[in-house]
Amino acid sequence: MSAASLHARPSDTYAAKLAHTEAVLASAAAVHDSHIVQATSLGAEDMVITDLIARWHLPIAIGTLDTGVLHAQTRTLVAHIEAEYGLPVQVVQPPREAVIRFITQHGDRAMYQSIELRKACCAVRKLEPLSRLLAGKSAWVTGLRREQSGQRAAVPFSEREANGRIKLNPLADWTWGDVWHYIAENDVPYNPLHDQFFPSIGCAPCTRAISLGEDFRAGRWWWEDETAKECGLHVDRREEATT
Ligand code: SF4
Repeated sequence: MSAASLHARPSDTYAAKLAHTEAVLASAAAVHDSHIVQATSLGAEDMVITDLIARWHLPIAIGTLDTGVLHAQTRTLVAHIEAEYGLPVQVVQPPREAVIRFITQHGDRAMYQSIELRKACCAVRKLEPLSRLLAGKSAWVTGLRREQSGQRAAVPFSEREANGRIKLNPLADWTWGDVWHYIAENDVPYNPLHDQFFPSIGCAPCTRAISLGEDFRAGRWWWEDETAKECGLHVDRREEATT
């Protein structure tokens, strides 16, 4: 059974949420002109946002991080987006020397040894590349949703980070059913791993399928305590929050 047929159930307020998301994206694109980028993880939520950007011809660039240890299915999605929508996707990778240095010092299974080493790996493979993806941008767009985890329960639609950059989370109030309803309705391409019970997809060594009844992010860093489960891409850097 596909993820779409399993999950596509819109909430009662789906139409209003979709209209709000479209308005947030259109307004941000106008305000930030060419200085706005969608940092896509290539997950289901981000595919909805990419589809909206393409559908409304919004001048929002699309970029993603290739940590070097992604699933082949995730990597393939980049070419799929470019072919399907005719939009370029900027792929940012960590510097090869930094990755080699980290593996030489700590091994390629360092993430399982301690939270500190796992976060150090994320710093090399994700945070530094993200800083380059966002360089020169006044705003970025993410697919964060409040429903994804307790730590994300208060995600605002828009927040100003301490460095002044605006972070937009236009799907903040969407349910998982809303996301898949949009995908099913609009025939949006998505990562086939979602059909294999991977609701949240990150690097291959740190992502597994979940079982029935497990939390949405149970397959991410499953060996760690629940409260540590963020990679640093979405730590709270807020200066102030708006709606
Ligand atoms: S998610 Fe895992 S493999 Fe990916 S950067 Fe973080 S620790 Fe490294």
